[in-house]
Amino acid sequence: MPAMNSYSNPCLTCGACCAFYRASFYWGETDDAPTGTVPAELTEQLNDFYCVMKGTNQPNPRCIALHGVIGENVFCTIHARRSSVCREFDASWVSGIPNERCDKARAAWGLSPLLPDAWTRSEDLLKAT
Ligand code: SF4
Ligand code: SF4
Repeated sequence: MPAMNSYSNPCLTCGACCAFYRASFYWGETDDAPTGTVPAELTEQLNDFYCVMKGTNQPNPRCIALHGVIGENVFCTIHARRSSVCREFDASWVSGIPNERCDKARAAWGLSPLLPDAWTRSEDLLKAT
C-alpha cells in the first residue's frame, strides 16, 4: 500500500488496493487504545473486535486516508500510523514474489501487474537522483 517518502515507489502511482479491499483490523490498533496509532475518527466499527478504515466497507471502496488519483499520483495521509493490515500488504515483487491480491486490485483499476523488475527499476531511479 502507498508510502509517502519515495517518489520512485510504484505504489505512489497506483493506490488500487486502497480503493478495492476492505481494510479491517483489531480496534486496539486505533488511538482509542493506549498503544494504538490509527486515527479512530478515520475508522468505523465493524463488530465487537474489529473496525475498518472509513470508505473501505462499501460496494465501491476507497479509503478515506487515500489522497490523489488512482493510477496517477497517490499517497496515504496516515502512512506512519496505518494499521497492520496495510503495513503487511506487499506489492507484487517488492519481496521478490508476486502478490495476486496486488495484481487483482490493479487489474480492477485497469492497471497491468507490476513486473518483477519494478522495484529494481525504482532503486535504479533512486540511485540516479
Ligand atoms: S490507511 Fe493508507 S494504506 Fe491503509 S487502506 Fe487507507 S490509504 Fe491505504
Ligand atoms: S495495488 Fe499493489 S502496487 Fe498498487 S498500491 Fe497496492 S500494493 Fe502498491
